[in-house]
Amino acid sequence: MKTFDTIIIGAGAAGLMAAAQLTMRKKSVLILDMGDAPARKVAISGGGNCNFTNLRADYTHYFGKNQRFVISALNQFSPKDMLDWVKKHNIKYIEKEPGRYFCKNGANEIINALLQDAKGATIKYNTNVIGVDKDGDKFIIKTNSGDFASGSVIVATGGVSYPHLGVSDIGQQIAKKFGHKIEPIRPALCAIKTNEFNTELAGISLPVEITVDKNKIADDLLFTHFGIGGPAVYRATLLNSKEMTINFAPDIDVFELLKSVKQKNGKKSVAGVITTILPNKLAHFLCNDARNIADLRDSELKQIANTINHFEINDGIAIGFQSAEVMMGGISTDKISSKTMESKLCPGLFFAGEVIDITGDLGGFNLQWAFASGFVAGKNT
Ligand SMILES: Cc1cc2nc3c(=O)[nH]c(=O)nc-3n(C[C@H](O)[C@H](O)[C@H](O)COP(=O)(O)OP(=O)(O)OC[C@H]3O[C@@H](n4cnc5c(N)ncnc54)[C@H](O)[C@@H]3O)c2cc1C
Repeated sequence: MKTFDTIIIGAGAAGLMAAAQLTMRKKSVLILDMGDAPARKVAISGGGNCNFTNLRADYTHYFGKNQRFVISALNQFSPKDMLDWVKKHNIKYIEKEPGRYFCKNGANEIINALLQDAKGATIKYNTNVIGVDKDGDKFIIKTNSGDFASGSVIVATGGVSYPHLGVSDIGQQIAKKFGHKIEPIRPALCAIKTNEFNTELAGISLPVEITVDKNKIADDLLFTHFGIGGPAVYRATLLNSKEMTINFAPDIDVFELLKSVKQKNGKKSVAGVITTILPNKLAHFLCNDARNIADLRDSELKQIANTINHFEINDGIAIGFQSAEVMMGGISTDKISSKTMESKLCPGLFFAGEVIDITGDLGGFNLQWAFASGFVAGKNT
């Protein structure tokens, strides 16, 4: 059996970035991937244009049992380093929002650059890793097409969302085998199923503010056939609560507005007033009262205003791994060195990327984490 210095499990964002750091130091590297192409999630990321980093990426934009775990990796390979890497590879990019970067000509440019940097590594596709054993100071990687040996292993197998791409929980199984704890997994950055709305609203999009516990998320919401989606809702799923409040008119105190219209123009219908601040169908869904505003008591106006400024949802369920951008939870950071990504329980075993219990906010934070943790694992292996 040929022995490699390092075997990387997963040719995704983290695995390829790690490989580049190793081949740069002339290490022999084998990358094993169950898919038939590299970085398949990068290829579909950012709607095909890969939101590859965000200059605001610090620990406050990450979730997991220990969000501060990301600090060292983000210092060692910062969003600015990622942007410099993109520039070095002559990849054209656009800044869609301040600090939030996408590829201009498609995510494939990032994948090609990753492959170019990792060209010293051997990549074996359609190779499903089914386990890892330790034999003395060697690791034996078991796959559907035979065993491979190495002095060290980087587990960069990602999350289990988008299962139709071909994903697995082998990273968690390997970690468990070597004594690591697994934090419960769940889908996030996805739409929410709720029975609070009707399908006629599907397609309407508007800026809202969602409150989950004490956290406020200001972004766009999109009504779907089964509930709600859009960036505000995606971000709300990171907070894992069935309950949330939506403010459909975040810049307007609707009670004050209704009271003032009642004083100045009492013959207007309440519903008519609401259509001046919300899309027609939504306005009528939230308030179908055709009475003149002058005929309503202030307490009734308050109730209507509350429906718009504080719409409560109590049955919100993340739609599932099928269409979630990320997996929350995964390998506990407890027994992993944040400075090197090496297991504290098994020397030579490293982890990188989404497989670890670290999840970023929407906006390029997840790929930044995958690249940074892959960089650190590769540098220290
Ligand atoms: C639709 C979508 C859009 C997204 N858009 C963005 C975005 O714009 N910006 C952003 O920051 N993040 C985005 N993300 C999240 C981001 O793509 C991931 O967080 C990131 O790719 C994780 O990188 P990774 O290297 O840890 O895992 P992955 O990129 O998922 O790579 C893991 C690799 O491991 C391989 N593997 C798994 N199991 C096995 C096994 N048993 N044997 C062999 N190989 C195995 C897989 O085939 C895969 O190639 C998006 C995700 C999705 C699904």
